[in-house]
Amino acid sequence: MRVITCLFTEHNLWFVLLAALMCVVGSMITIRLYRLVAGAHGTARLGWTFLAAVCAGSAVWATHFIAMLGYEPGVPVRLDSNLTIISGLIAIIGSGAALLIAGNTRMRALPALGGAVFGLTVAAMHFTGMFAYRVDGIVTWDMSYIAASIALATAFGAAALHVTPNWQGGWRGLVPPLLLVAAIVSLHFTGMAAFLVTPLEGIDVGADSPAFTAMAIAVAIAAFLILGTGVATYLIEARLREASEDQLRHMALHDPLTGLPNRTSFNARLDARLDGPCAHETAIAAIDLDRFKEVNDSWGHGAGDQVLTALAERLRKFDGARHFAARLGGDEFCVILKTSDVHELQQLVMGLEAEFTRPVQCGTLEAAVGASIGLAIYPRDGEDRDSLVRNADLAMYKAKADPLSSICFYDPALGEAVRESRALAADLRQAIEADELHLHYQVQTSIETGDIRGYEALLRWRHPERGDIPPSHFIPMAEANGLILPLGDWVLRRACMDAASWPKHLKVAGNLSAIQLPHMGLPQQIHQMLIEPDLPPARLEIELPETALIKDKAQSLHIMRQIKALGVSIALDDFGTGYSSLDTLRTFPFDKIKLDKSFTDELKTDPRSLAVVRAVLTLARSLEIPVLAEGIETIEQLELLRQEHCDEGQGFLLGRPESIEVVDRLGLRVDVHKAKPDAPAKAPARRA
Ligand code: C2E
Ligand code: MG
Ligand code: MG
Repeated sequence: MRVITCLFTEHNLWFVLLAALMCVVGSMITIRLYRLVAGAHGTARLGWTFLAAVCAGSAVWATHFIAMLGYEPGVPVRLDSNLTIISGLIAIIGSGAALLIAGNTRMRALPALGGAVFGLTVAAMHFTGMFAYRVDGIVTWDMSYIAASIALATAFGAAALHVTPNWQGGWRGLVPPLLLVAAIVSLHFTGMAAFLVTPLEGIDVGADSPAFTAMAIAVAIAAFLILGTGVATYLIEARLREASEDQLRHMALHDPLTGLPNRTSFNARLDARLDGPCAHETAIAAIDLDRFKEVNDSWGHGAGDQVLTALAERLRKFDGARHFAARLGGDEFCVILKTSDVHELQQLVMGLEAEFTRPVQCGTLEAAVGASIGLAIYPRDGEDRDSLVRNADLAMYKAKADPLSSICFYDPALGEAVRESRALAADLRQAIEADELHLHYQVQTSIETGDIRGYEALLRWRHPERGDIPPSHFIPMAEANGLILPLGDWVLRRACMDAASWPKHLKVAGNLSAIQLPHMGLPQQIHQMLIEPDLPPARLEIELPETALIKDKAQSLHIMRQIKALGVSIALDDFGTGYSSLDTLRTFPFDKIKLDKSFTDELKTDPRSLAVVRAVLTLARSLEIPVLAEGIETIEQLELLRQEHCDEGQGFLLGRPESIEVVDRLGLRVDVHKAKPDAPAKAPARRA
C-alpha cells in the first residue's frame, strides 16, 4: 500500500511514464542482447557481453534517475556527483557480471543465477544512487521495504534470464523483458517506499535544485544515446544475420558456378508445380551437353566452367514466370516448361537446342558443344516427379544416340529398349575388358584389275552366352551408352597396328560412329594411333556414315578438315541411304564414296538403280572422287559395275570379312574374272 501511495502521491507521473518507457525499451534491448551473448562464443561473446552490460546498466541507471527527477520529497534536494557516477559504474559492471554468468546456458542454473545477480545489481545501483540523493530533511529507512525490494528484484531478475533461452517468438517472447521490467520497477518503487523524509522545521519547501535537474536530464540523454547505440547495433546485427541467412539459403538452393537453381530447388519447384492447379500444363526437358567432356579434357576445367556459365546464362532466358531452368549437376540441365501442347513444346525446345548449338567463346577459342534434349509431359509420361524425370532422361539418352536429331519425346517403348540396351551395355563393357572383341577385315579391290587396295576393319563380338552379336546391334547400343568412344578408339588403334605389318601399298579403313566424329580430341587421337605403329597417314582411311554429319555441320566440317590435314583420307560410307547425299558431297571434302549395298543389290533387277548408279558415278567423276560399290555378291553385279567404270568394289564375292590371321596370308589381287556367277566367294584368292 505504501508503495502505491509513494508512487502516486510523491512522484510526478510524467517522469514516471518517461522512466517506464526507458525501462521497457532498455529491458527489451537487454534481453535481445542477452540472447546474442548466449548464442555467441569466445571473443564475440565477450564483445556482446560488454555491449549488453553498457546498455542494461545505463538503462537501469537512467530509469532510476528519471524516476528520481519525478520524485517530490517536498524538501530541497542535492546530488553527490561522485556517488552518482559510482552508482552508474555499479549498474554497468554488475550487469556485465550478471550477463557473463547467465551467458553460459549449458548449465541450466546459470541464467537464473545471472538474473539474480542482475537483480542485486539494480538494488546496489539504486541504494548507492539514493545515498547520492541529499535532501534537507530527516531521512529514515524502512528495512522491511528494503528487504522486500531486494527480494523482488532478485526473484524477477532470476526468472527473466531463466526463461529467456527457451521463451522466444510470439507472446512468449514478451515474457522475459516484462519480467526484467518487473525487477527494475519493483526494486525502484518498493525501495522508494523504504525512503522516508521528514522535512525540518523552518526550511522552506523549495524546488529541486537546478543543478540536480540539469544533471538528471544530461544523464537521461546520455543513457538514451547509449541505449540507442545498443538498439542500432542489434538492428545491424539482425540485418547482417538475415543477409547471411539469405546467402546460406541461396547457396543451398543454387549452383555456385552458374547461379542457376540446383537439384534441390528443381525438385521442390517440380513438386509444387505437380501439386498446384497448373499441373496439367507441365512438361520437363532433360538436357545433357554432347561434347562437354572434351572441352574439359582438351582445354582444361577453366574453359569447361566458362562454357557452363555461358550456357547457363542463355538458359536463363527460359527461366521466368512460366518456365524454370536448373542445373542438376555436371553438364546436366533441366527445364520445367509450362505447357503440355506438343506443338508449343516443339517450338520451345528447338529454341533451347539452338542456344546450346550456338558456339561459346572461350578466350580465343570457340566451343560448339551441342546438347541432347529429352522431353516428358505430365501426366502422360509420368504421374510423379521421379517417373517424369526418369522418362525425360530416357528420351534424352535416345536423342543422344540418334545421329539425326537432338530432341526426343518420351515414348513408352523407349523404357523397354533402354533396359535391354543397358543390360547388353554392361556386358559390352566387360567384353572390352575381357578382350572378347576382335576385328575382321574385308577386302576392297580395284574392279578393273582385282588389285587389292586395302581392307575395311569390322568389329566382331562373341558374347559368351549369346554367341556372335552383329555390329548393327551393339554399335547403336554402345552409342547410346557412351561406350562408343573407348570402343571406337580401340578399333582404330588395333586396325592401325595390324595394318602396319601389311604390304606398304595396302590401306586400312576404319568405321567412325556419328557420336565419335564431333569430338574435338579426335584428330589428335588419330595422330597418336598412327605414331605408335609408325603407319603412314595415307594408309589409313576413315569411313563416315552420312548421319555423322547431320547434327552439327560446322563442327563436323572442322574436325574433318583437321583429320584430312593429318594426311588421313575420309570415305563417305553407305552413300545413297542418307537424306541429302548430294548436298553432303558438295559440302564435305570426301576422298571416296562408298555406294550403299542396296544399289548394288538391285543393279540387275531394277533399271532405276542402274540409272542412279550411273548418275552417281558421273557426278563423282566430275568431282574427281573415286567410288567403291559395297555388297557385291554376284559376278553379274561386278560385271555391270565394271562396265560403268566403277573404281572399287567390296562384297562377299570379292572376299568375306576374315580374321587377321587369314588376311595376313592373303595375296595382292583377287581374281575378279574367275569368281563364280551368283555364288558368293568363300574366301579371297591367295597371294599371286
Ligand atoms: P559398313 O561399314 O557398311 O560395313 C559393311 C557391312 O556390310 C559389314 O557388315 C559387312 O560384313 C557387310 N557386307 C560386306 N559385303 C557384303 C555382301 O556382299 N553381302 C552382305 N549381305 N553384306 C556384306 P557388318 O560387319 O555386320 O557391319 C555392319 C555395320 O556395322 C557396318 O557397315 C558399320 O556401319 C558398322 N560397324 C562395323 N564395325 C564397326 C566399327 O568398328 N565401328 C563403327 N562405328 N561401326 C562399325
Ligand atoms: Mg564401313
Ligand atoms: Mg557401308
